[in-house]
Amino acid sequence: MAHEAKLILDHISTKLRTVGHNNITRCPSCAEEGHDRSGDNLSISIEDPRTDICWAGCTRDMIRAAMGRPRPVQHALQGQKKEASNVEI
Ligand SMILES: [Zn+2]
Repeated sequence: MAHEAKLILDHISTKLRTVGHNNITRCPSCAEEGHDRSGDNLSISIEDPRTDICWAGCTRDMIRAAMGRPRPVQHALQGQKKEASNVEI
């Protein structure tokens, strides 16, 4: 759960635009499918950069997976030791 604090901003290389209380940029998940050509699907709260929302409905896992860094979601395997391949972001 400690990985939750990682900021999506640190992993985004697309241009950010500030709109109201949010930073707007291209959603990596949408972009992967050839969508979001206008580059404004992903909204990241300025007050809380951990809050990111894709207006097209991508989940945070989808967005992170598109960035090549999927979060571990193996809740059932919580007791197991992390594998060495589980590289920290
Ligand atoms: Zn998206």
